Amino acid sequence: PVRVRFAPSPTGPLHIGGVRTALYNYLLAKQTGGKFLLRIEDTDQTRFVPGAEQYILESLNWLGINPDEGVGVGGPHEPYRQSERKHLYKEYADQLLKSGKAYYAFDTAEELDAIRKTYESKGGAFQYNAATRGKLKNSLSLSEEETKALLASNSPYVIRLKVPAKGEIRFQDSIRDWVHVHTSSIDDKVLMKSDGMPTYHLANVVDDHIMEITHVIRGEEWLPSAPLHILLYQAFGWTPPTFAHLPLLLKPEGNGKLSKRDADLGGFPVFPLEWTDPVTGQKAKGFREEGYLPEATINFLAFLGWNPGTEQELFSLEELVTAFSLERINKAGAKFDVQKAKWFNEQYLRNQPIESIAKQYVEHLETSKAEAFVGLYLDRITFPNELKTLAVEFFEMPVTYDEQVVTNKLNEESRRALELICDKLPDSVSNWNAESIKEGIHQILEESGIKMGKVMQLLRVALSGNGAGPDLMISMELWGKDSVFQRLKLALD
Ligand code: GLU
Repeated sequence: PVRVRFAPSPTGPLHIGGVRTALYNYLLAKQTGGKFLLRIEDTDQTRFVPGAEQYILESLNWLGINPDEGVGVGGPHEPYRQSERKHLYKEYADQLLKSGKAYYAFDTAEELDAIRKTYESKGGAFQYNAATRGKLKNSLSLSEEETKALLASNSPYVIRLKVPAKGEIRFQDSIRDWVHVHTSSIDDKVLMKSDGMPTYHLANVVDDHIMEITHVIRGEEWLPSAPLHILLYQAFGWTPPTFAHLPLLLKPEGNGKLSKRDADLGGFPVFPLEWTDPVTGQKAKGFREEGYLPEATINFLAFLGWNPGTEQELFSLEELVTAFSLERINKAGAKFDVQKAKWFNEQYLRNQPIESIAKQYVEHLETSKAEAFVGLYLDRITFPNELKTLAVEFFEMPVTYDEQVVTNKLNEESRRALELICDKLPDSVSNWNAESIKEGIHQILEESGIKMGKVMQLLRVALSGNGAGPDLMISMELWGKDSVFQRLKLALD
């Protein structure tokens, strides 16, 4: 059975690119009847940010892509937080030490820096690898006694992987196809740090193995680490999972990678939820607070790097589960298209039940009025929270009038038409609703021989100040008889 994981590090707010990674993992799991795991990779204590883990859980929950196993849910491989699995990684590192696939290294940061500088001064680059390791301070260059003595004296050490001097690492990525890397380009990566914590590489591989992960689906920024991970699987004698490295997310203009630092791209959030920095108190925008619906966000993210191969663009989460496939993920980076995100939101917004939107966003109006108002504006907005201001503005008396319309449309005849409507309409319409208002206006104009088309836009400007807007008859119904009368008088004065 397919077992996939989302393995974020709680180093800040979850980036929207991370959400896409989670989504693709979720889709593959659901499609195959497999399991979607959430593992928190918090071994780098220097980068730990309080609240980040909670933020990840809330984000997934808001989008409805909840894990089957992992932090917040539990499961057969508890704990799912790497900081709580510390003891385990040491055992596995020891296993590699015993089999000769890893070694102790006692070089201090200063010593390594000095060596690096010597190499660089000669125009080269230093790598801790088969070519140099014999000259450095580690258990491969020291005698067994020296090593034992250093360990006994509690000298700080790291454990490094012994990368083979010669060889090619090959693996077939589901998206990038064959990847070949020569081992000479890989240094003897640190597996255990001097503070006794594993590095990302060791913890990640060990956990993926123990947790029986079948597919590693993650961002392209991890592609350079994959050969090393393959080496680790080989060193342990384990079968590696299938790798799928997702295309980069690019800035809206395509000029470079989207990063966490792009907290706000021309008004476009790059985080799922609003984030308040625990140190600076600074806020970064979130999709949710901006007014994106979870369904629209999911649909938008699904298309950032994948397409169904058909014209269909609107997919519910369930439909995505059926349609998704790793084969249809693109290699090329995917541009963050703000207009497309808005378009998705508009589509989903129009399918929302009017009652609930009215209750949430125009709660200050009486229910039937609120619902009629939402109906009037729903296909004219992108975000539901626009309704709040619109609802206030809508009921305010106009202050200015669209000058262009006034200049073009105001003449003796049209002025007379407005005066007639003002005089007669309030009395001629007994049941004040859109239908009867329309009929009333029709009749008044017909009797005086004025064409409706010549007056309507001017009437709109007289009533609202604007040359364009939603259905005028429903608007008039909502304003109410008295207000319409007042508006007309105000405009005619
Ligand atoms: N902890 C890594 C991250 O923050 C996980 C990368 C992986 O999926 O292997 O993205």
